[in-house]
Amino acid sequence: MTAESTLQGTFATAADLLAVIEPETGGRQIKDPATGETVGRVAEPGAAELEAAVAAAKAARPAWAALGHAERSGFLNRAADAVEANAEALAELLSREQGKPLNGPNARFEVGACAAWLRATAGFELEPETLLEEDGTRAQLFYRPLGVVGAIGPWNWPMMIAVWQLAPALRMGNTVVMKPSEYTPLSVLALARVLNQVFPENVLTVVPGGREVGQALASHPDIAKVMFTGSTATGKAIIRSSADTVKRLTLELGGNDAGIVLPDADPKAIAEGLFWGAFINTGQTCAALKRLYVHEEIYDAVCAELTQLARTMPMGHGLDENNVLGPLQNKAQFDIVANLVQAARDSGARVLTGGNPDPEQPGYFYPATLVADIDNNNPLVAEEQFGPALPIIKYSSIEEAIEMANGLEVGLGASVWSADPDKAREVAARIEAGTVWINKHGAVDPRVPFGGAKQSGYGLEFGIEGLKHLGTPQVING
Ligand code: NAD
Repeated sequence: MTAESTLQGTFATAADLLAVIEPETGGRQIKDPATGETVGRVAEPGAAELEAAVAAAKAARPAWAALGHAERSGFLNRAADAVEANAEALAELLSREQGKPLNGPNARFEVGACAAWLRATAGFELEPETLLEEDGTRAQLFYRPLGVVGAIGPWNWPMMIAVWQLAPALRMGNTVVMKPSEYTPLSVLALARVLNQVFPENVLTVVPGGREVGQALASHPDIAKVMFTGSTATGKAIIRSSADTVKRLTLELGGNDAGIVLPDADPKAIAEGLFWGAFINTGQTCAALKRLYVHEEIYDAVCAELTQLARTMPMGHGLDENNVLGPLQNKAQFDIVANLVQAARDSGARVLTGGNPDPEQPGYFYPATLVADIDNNNPLVAEEQFGPALPIIKYSSIEEAIEMANGLEVGLGASVWSADPDKAREVAARIEAGTVWINKHGAVDPRVPFGGAKQSGYGLEFGIEGLKHLGTPQVING
């Protein structure tokens, strides 16, 4: 299939997508994290292109806003159809650029989630709220479009998080200028290319680039709101950059999610949920289980079940259908994980499995690693590892476990594992996190609001609450 013939139709392979998103010449090379081979090239436009994109998005906004909810929902549903029609090509490119396998809860799953979130966001009804009705007058609350929304994303779930940002923004009548992570720009450019088969011109624009483009977007006077997903440190920088223009912000920042296993849990029954809670996307997930607290009575049994399971999970190149775990996406992240595990080992903690990456293997593969008998203050526990290394901490009283779970400045997700869901809910209510799951971890749903507590951010995504965060509230009273 040639680039010409794909313009109005479907893309069969990642190469077909690359043919329409790569610059004709030059650009920066993006490497496959599994092999070091070049995946493709990305143009890095710079300040002038950002200005042009914001101006075009501003000009496109009135007509898009005037369409109304029903028509915009129709566009989102057709955008979901376009994603589904191009799903395999998108998943292949995502796998090659990000590293995640096609199989398992990885690349195909992520592309499927893009379509699911677009459709769900099309379906929500946000009605005006009548607050008062008396003496022939009424006060009503509406949510009007904000303007141009700037969206800044990370490299771990680049397509899905792009959709989490753009779908509610567009649905609410805003236009969007998006800056993907410099590590995964091709995935977002390809996704936007597919979506823009459907959307009117300049409603959604992607401007690749690094931190400077993000900074320029966050301080731009014509950007009304920034949707940001990434690290807490960058979130703080965005708060500062956006201060002079009093931008609205939704900040989905880093986490270091705790899981607490109560003594009545069945180690065998919960092992798989714990494993994928921690190792989904090879641990590179904001709301993944990153510290596991297990009661002393079942500590050894949980460690044994998890170790057995971790050893059965194939890790390797993403395009090999056998694999369910992939490489770390980049060298910096590989080094963070390797250094934290080494420091844990040096402190006397016990590595149950993993922990020894093969220096001969190309790519940033770090084996699935479980670390037991580790102190709660160890950096592998206290810092966000964002990779396939789970520390397992022993506790003896539930009070101690809750105190340790709440002991950090972040609070994105958490989980409680028990045979008694009511008891688990009581513990959950005492944990300082935006979401606390019972007997699962990290499950998100487009109908259920998601957001962080403490320094994991503010603002909510998904569902009706998510739509409200992409509108400016207006009361009409009289
Ligand atoms: P990052 O903060 O390094 O980068 C995120 C984005 O911000 C990139 O596009 C980057 O170019 C841009 N950026 C960097 N400096 C900037 C600045 N000063 N101004 C504006 N933009 C700037 O994060 P990352 O390494 O890509 O992602 C990993 C982090 O993201 C982890 O901490 C993870 O927990 C977090 N995360 C959170 C969620 C969530 O929903 N809460 C989801 C995924 C990832």
